[in-house]
Amino acid sequence: MINKQDLRDTRVIVDLDNIAWNMKLIDEMTGPDVAVMAVVKANGYGHGSIAIAPTLIENGACYLAVATLSEALQLRAAYPDYPLFILGHTPDRLLHYVVEQNITQTIFTLQQAEMLNALAADLHRKARVHIKVDTGFHRLGQSPSADFAEEICRMFDLENLEIEGIFSHLALAGSKEDEAQYRSFCDFIAILEKQGCTFTYKHIADSIATVDYPQYRMNMVRPGAILYGMRGFETENVPIRQAMTFKTAISQLHAVPKGEGVSYDYLWKASRDSLIATLPFGYADGYPRNMRDKGYVLIGGVKAPLVGVLCMDQCMADVTDVPGVCCGMEAVIYGDGTDGSMTVAEAAALAETNKNDIIARITARPPREYIRK
Ligand SMILES: *Cc1c(COP(=O)(O)O)cnc(C)c1O
Repeated sequence: MINKQDLRDTRVIVDLDNIAWNMKLIDEMTGPDVAVMAVVKANGYGHGSIAIAPTLIENGACYLAVATLSEALQLRAAYPDYPLFILGHTPDRLLHYVVEQNITQTIFTLQQAEMLNALAADLHRKARVHIKVDTGFHRLGQSPSADFAEEICRMFDLENLEIEGIFSHLALAGSKEDEAQYRSFCDFIAILEKQGCTFTYKHIADSIATVDYPQYRMNMVRPGAILYGMRGFETENVPIRQAMTFKTAISQLHAVPKGEGVSYDYLWKASRDSLIATLPFGYADGYPRNMRDKGYVLIGGVKAPLVGVLCMDQCMADVTDVPGVCCGMEAVIYGDGTDGSMTVAEAAALAETNKNDIIARITARPPREYIRK
């Protein structure tokens, strides 16, 4: 049988112990009164949602959240019993899937509620939902208005609908703006509760808010980035661990005389007689193409700068200063930084994007390899 993990030198190594560590840290930090919905959208931010799901559930996650129905159905096929949540919108024509597959759905209109109620009644079961309130982000949900409150109260009359939660999302525009959003959310919930509409779960905090705003944890949080060891928050002494290492190995070495160019358009030219390594990864693996002249890989403990235009499947690094360099030698693309490798945070800064983009953009092509002690 073909071992998919061994079909390429370029591979993503995921440390499940670090994911367990981060998950446990969040669970303990938030305490027994706050449930943790672990966000595994975008294939677990590139780590592989199906492979990491058991680690998250075993270490305290009470829900796994994804962005789309397609992501939820993949997880459902692998795990018939895990509680699954869809953070995004599911079009009406597809809502029957969430009822059939016992997936908790985000909704924000009475019409969606009625449709789910009817679908659930047909199957003699209940459809479970959380209601999305737009407190300022203007992405998904309705603004807290008297009309929306009335719609929600009417949802509570639907017998085959279980309204389990209500949630909103912070724009993280600043502490004043964040507080205004939180206040608006709480005021709206208070109005609903006065009319007998109560919710098991109320939530507004993502990773950053979970750590930096303990007062906004309510009774559920929705961390994503932090589970993978991505630090966006400002609070110090939160010892999370990067779970991902991205590695490859040298496929060929070229002696390039001074003055000769490398890669498309010869945009890099050797300023001395150089030794250039060809590496079998490129932008089709999800490595940012704008890393040209900025990126480097770690080979034999030495930073080897990427030179020339990055290609779709390969790139070149200057290894002139790497002692004993040879074909097949390992090159670390992203590491935890302790060895001098580029961290995801540094890659994000160099590529002028954020850390979530760096990890989530790694495509399906590099195999994922999972390690644990
Ligand atoms: C992605 C997402 C999260 C998790 O965000 P992080 O910044 O990765 O913690 C939480 N809530 C919603 C609605 C999301 O879309």
